[in-house]
Amino acid sequence: MATTDIKTPDTIPAAPAYPAQVTGMDILARALRMVGIDTMYGLVGIPVTELAYIAQGRGIRFISFRHEQQAGMAAATHGFLTGKPGVLLTVSSLGFLNGLTATANATVNCYPMIQISGSSVREPIDLLQGTYEGLDQLNIAKPLVKAAYRVNKPEDIPTAVVRAYRAAISGRPGGVYLDVTTPCLGAIMNADDADKLFYTPVDLCPAIVPSPDAVRRAADLIASAKKPAIIIGKGAAYAKVEEQLKTLVDKTGIPYYPMSMAKGVLPDAGPLSALSCRTTIMEESDVVVLVGARLNWLLSRGHGKWSKTVKFVQLDIDPEEIDANVPIAAPVVGDLASSLNALIAALPDKLSVDPTWVPGLQAQTKEKDAKFEARLAANASATPMTHWSALGAIKPVMAANPDVILVNEGANTLDDTRDTLEMALPRHRIDCATWAIMGMGMGSCVGAAVATGKSVVAIEGDSAFGFSGMDFSTICRFRLPVTVVIFNNGGIYNGVGVNMAGTSDPAPTTLDIRARYDKLGDAFGAKTYYVTTPAELTAALTEAIASKAPALIDVQLAADSGKESGHIGYLNPTPLEQITV
Ligand code: ADP
Ligand code: MG
Repeated sequence: MATTDIKTPDTIPAAPAYPAQVTGMDILARALRMVGIDTMYGLVGIPVTELAYIAQGRGIRFISFRHEQQAGMAAATHGFLTGKPGVLLTVSSLGFLNGLTATANATVNCYPMIQISGSSVREPIDLLQGTYEGLDQLNIAKPLVKAAYRVNKPEDIPTAVVRAYRAAISGRPGGVYLDVTTPCLGAIMNADDADKLFYTPVDLCPAIVPSPDAVRRAADLIASAKKPAIIIGKGAAYAKVEEQLKTLVDKTGIPYYPMSMAKGVLPDAGPLSALSCRTTIMEESDVVVLVGARLNWLLSRGHGKWSKTVKFVQLDIDPEEIDANVPIAAPVVGDLASSLNALIAALPDKLSVDPTWVPGLQAQTKEKDAKFEARLAANASATPMTHWSALGAIKPVMAANPDVILVNEGANTLDDTRDTLEMALPRHRIDCATWAIMGMGMGSCVGAAVATGKSVVAIEGDSAFGFSGMDFSTICRFRLPVTVVIFNNGGIYNGVGVNMAGTSDPAPTTLDIRARYDKLGDAFGAKTYYVTTPAELTAALTEAIASKAPALIDVQLAADSGKESGHIGYLNPTPLEQITV
């Protein structure tokens, strides 16, 4: 076919004027507008194709993907960054299931999102008769999401949308599933009757104010502390409480440690940042204030041991989180803005902090930072590059572009990037988060770029990129200012795994050390680079960010750079080298 035959967006006819009758699909699109939804991520097919067209016509930006899981990761990232639920649209059966992985991941991470899925007619599903893409989606979704609803009648759509919105965003945010049956999508109503269904919901995300007693108990405990510390979690990033946290830290002089996605809520390089002092905080702090952070596996077990005498203050919106893992001496249940404001007002002007505590942490920070810089510089010109020399080349470029959002996934690529790149601004780091999963990369890039309009850089392990690589084409189709950097060490963890059978098959961890990922970018019209030295990497990344266009940088690493499971090798059941063969 000649290229002139290809329909470009310019030649697609404008949306039709709205007639005297409307369908459930039109009511759904308008109900989403009614609660302020202006973007939808998804992948169409029967029975939701027309819905996407109608939504686009009704002013909702529709970002179309190549795989539902990535559309879901985009919706979740949109929710995390904006504080409004991101919306994912999927088809029935497999599309629904593909998207549900992202909705489940959003629920675990407290990201607000709504997965709307078309579903087949009920009767043959309930009688197990088999039908086109027939699956009992509502019941499958239920255990994996914060709330799940089905809507069967067009008249109920606005109510269903408001309920889904409130469930996604109220209290602890999470993923919500909204099942819309094919008959409901297709049902026809008089436009005048449909118009009467819409209303303006009041106070969609109400403040939850903590009790004065809880605030007083927490303030008293903090006032008594000799070696206090604040742990900032991604709940604080989500709740946009950077101003309150700055006031708290300025007023009290308490040092802070950010969890991964809370890096930058307060600057990593600030004078009271104790980013390199996690072990000391765990072993020595007497009072630890958790702000939107859970005491889950990321703050225990292989990640350190708390002292026996530490007392916790926990600020969280979810009362069920309190005492979930360890006893909490002073729980403060409320939304973080309300809780921090109340706590700041209740604290005395002067605390009784041990005068050696903060200077000790600052000295330790200086010493550790110097060692770290030496490690980055050690191999600055060696080739092939390692994770460290590549990150040494990236660090100054990212420091010169602090407002670029960083997406990061992999094993060693995740751990080493997190340790190397300092964040200066809140909500600028999106990563594998609470489940430590892979397969969030391209979707999160799209969600971050669309939701904020900012530039994005993804630093991806070659294995991690494989889960979502095809949706690099979505970045290109929507001309988003996203640079994807792929650290190719030829494998999961590294590229030097050995096939224990001695056959010519690759080892389970072995991928393609000679793969040219940049050529994948060429296929979709991105700016592409293949770099083998740190100097080339610095130059490529600088140019790619400045271009504000889709770009892909294939970074050739050594196959032996990287160790099994990065920092979490202790989670493997029994490392192979522990067994006598
Ligand atoms: P991290 O992985 O950074 O430690 P988690 O996801 O484990 O962060 O914890 C985030 C916590 O923040 C959750 O317990 C959640 O209930 C809480 N949270 C989320 N939003 C708010 C909010 N607006 N106000 C208070 N707490 C919140
Ligand atoms: Mg790899």
